[in-house]
Amino acid sequence: MATIANNLEVVRSRISQACLTVQRPPASVTLLAVSKTFPAENVRDAFNAGQKLFGENYVQEALDKISALSDIRDQIQWHLIGPLQSNKTRPVAEAFDWVHTVDRLKIAQRLSEQRPVHLPPLQVCVQVNTSGEDSKSGCAPAEALALAQAVAQLPRLKLRGIMALPAPSPDPAVQHEALKQVRVHFDHWRQHGLDVDTLSMGMSNDLEAAVQEGATMVRIGTAIFGHR
Ligand SMILES: *Cc1c(COP(=O)(O)O)cnc(C)c1O
Repeated sequence: MATIANNLEVVRSRISQACLTVQRPPASVTLLAVSKTFPAENVRDAFNAGQKLFGENYVQEALDKISALSDIRDQIQWHLIGPLQSNKTRPVAEAFDWVHTVDRLKIAQRLSEQRPVHLPPLQVCVQVNTSGEDSKSGCAPAEALALAQAVAQLPRLKLRGIMALPAPSPDPAVQHEALKQVRVHFDHWRQHGLDVDTLSMGMSNDLEAAVQEGATMVRIGTAIFGHR
């Protein structure tokens, strides 16, 4: 427990330090703690250390944790950051606050239709495959703006921005190059009048580069919870 709290402190200070280097206010970067594969008790430890936003990759695993932590449901935001198949949209629309991995219109339409009316709109990012990463998920860069515009029209969704998962590289120059491309898309969407505020990129190994390239939400797993 002390470890997770300490790790969170280290990650928060990495964010602040990176912000300093580019004169951004630390509050302009939101920390999403990626808890996939770790048990609900670890999420609770992080919550007790002040963390409120959690990211999960696998729908069933996330539903189990959401239910184990139902007593603090109102104080937590659950973000789906893993690939979403169309036969899994209903539980996601019912249980999550955010989905970062909308990569085709059909998924977005289903999420909008299935989002319960008593809940606020589902907050979504369109995932763009900006660097042809091996994960195969994310829409093609050439189709991203049109998809984002279509998603923005759906009644039960709120388009928040763009998510990307550049291929990992230990080389900061390569990291910067890939992250910069995501930023270019984000700026392009805004120039086209889309009301978006979220640039979701940056993981444990490229957090600094992501913040320097303008990330507004970083998704950090290993540096908080340990190796999977
Ligand atoms: C696992 C995962 C992360 C966190 O990665 P770490 O390297 O553990 O920080 C972030 N984003 C996505 C989409 C992930 O699947």
